[in-house]
Amino acid sequence: MTAAQYYDVAILGGGLAGRLSAWLLVRAGARVALVERGSPDGTGSAAYVAAAMLAPLAESAIAERRIVDLGVASLTLWKRWVEELPDPVFFQQDGTLVVWHARDRGELAMFTSRMRAVAPPEMIAAQLRTLDGRGVAEVEPDLAGRFTQGLLLQGEGQIDNRGAMRALLSCAVAEGLHCLWEVGEVDEHMLPSLGIRANVVLDCRGLGARAAWPQVTTPVTTQAASTQGKTSGAMPGLRGLRGEVVRVHAPDVSLHRPVRLLHPRYPIYIAPKPNDMYVIGATELESEDESPMSVRSALELLSAAHSLHPAFGEARVLELNVQLRPTRPDHLPSIRVEQGARVVRVNGLYRHGWMISPAVTEAACEVVRALLNGDLAAHAVPAALRWPGMIEAVDESALDAHYEAVVPAASVIDGGDTIH
Ligand SMILES: Cc1cc2nc3c(=O)[nH]c(=O)nc-3n(C[C@H](O)[C@H](O)[C@H](O)COP(=O)(O)OP(=O)(O)OC[C@H]3O[C@@H](n4cnc5c(N)ncnc54)[C@H](O)[C@@H]3O)c2cc1C
Repeated sequence: MTAAQYYDVAILGGGLAGRLSAWLLVRAGARVALVERGSPDGTGSAAYVAAAMLAPLAESAIAERRIVDLGVASLTLWKRWVEELPDPVFFQQDGTLVVWHARDRGELAMFTSRMRAVAPPEMIAAQLRTLDGRGVAEVEPDLAGRFTQGLLLQGEGQIDNRGAMRALLSCAVAEGLHCLWEVGEVDEHMLPSLGIRANVVLDCRGLGARAAWPQVTTPVTTQAASTQGKTSGAMPGLRGLRGEVVRVHAPDVSLHRPVRLLHPRYPIYIAPKPNDMYVIGATELESEDESPMSVRSALELLSAAHSLHPAFGEARVLELNVQLRPTRPDHLPSIRVEQGARVVRVNGLYRHGWMISPAVTEAACEVVRALLNGDLAAHAVPAALRWPGMIEAVDESALDAHYEAVVPAASVIDGGDTIH
């Protein structure tokens, strides 16, 4: 058995939420250990393959208002945090361009009506600009003559995901983060065997934490089920949604911001990355199959990109990536406090992790600091008030029961004890 090292916080999982939290907590002065099944490059995480678009208005066409609000708050945080990182990270807020081929103009009505139903009117008024063909050409000269209309969603952002993962880790390590890589699949109970004892465990394992999220009972909404007399059904508390993206090198294409193509069957986005790289994505399949990308998906993504700009025909395919998005039944993020308030789990970042993780991890770290300090009012309560319903305290003995949306009780804090 390895001699034990004592930490304030042990973080499980070094993907997006894990690295961000580690960086936030060491900067706040905590002694932190990060434990990851994979390698420091992060290739085993959803974060590594993501397009990392930060597009709350565009996503309002498919997401809930809570996601939009978290996305807006997170954009401000990303802007500030990227400036605070010693290593440069590509980040921009030059907006999202939305285009469609003339035959698909019916998609526009659907896209804008969903957006108007969810996003605040003042956000739409400030950010949404309608473009004619000339406007599209002014915004993206490479698309001149290809589209007669478009939408510019001003102020939306994107970040270089791999650069950000490297920079967060290297800064956190420089500030004292201790890392254990390639430890295999671990949970909080295995930490002592790795020589780690911590006052609080922060679980950021994404889909790797599946077993820790119990099934939930949801009302049945399908006609077929209700005619069979079913009123409720069990859903996994956390499931994976398969996503596929292609990473290409396309020096003959010059796009300056993420472009979304509205299409009835193949809606895609193309996110430019540094050095003439583009991420083309993404499929979303109700499946936990992690096998390589299907020919159908590759054809659909690449054909749609080629229809947007023929120069993608000469691009070089560098990677065909598949990952699972960690998703809760309500598609919303969740922070849960468990096991005598010594385990905090952050999960359910789904398809919006890069867009919302600053606000979500900031709230999780506030809860962790409340547990460490026993100072509930100063830390956990503001986070809980800012994002009502996102932070849940779970009575360990009633894990299967319906849990309440409450902030953790101060009485359960015992800074001296460690996880065994
Ligand atoms: C194809 C695709 C495209 C996406 N595009 C975008 C986008 O444009 N914008 C956006 O905002 N979001 C996007 N996302 C979503 C985003 O990537 C995820 O929401 C986010 O990465 C989830 O963060 P996480 O930290 O919870 O999980 P992850 O990033 O997956 O990190 C989890 C980490 O935990 C480790 N781990 C798991 N189990 C264990 C274990 N038992 N022991 C030790 N370590 C473990 C894993 O190896 C991994 O490093 C995309 C996702 C996919 C798949």
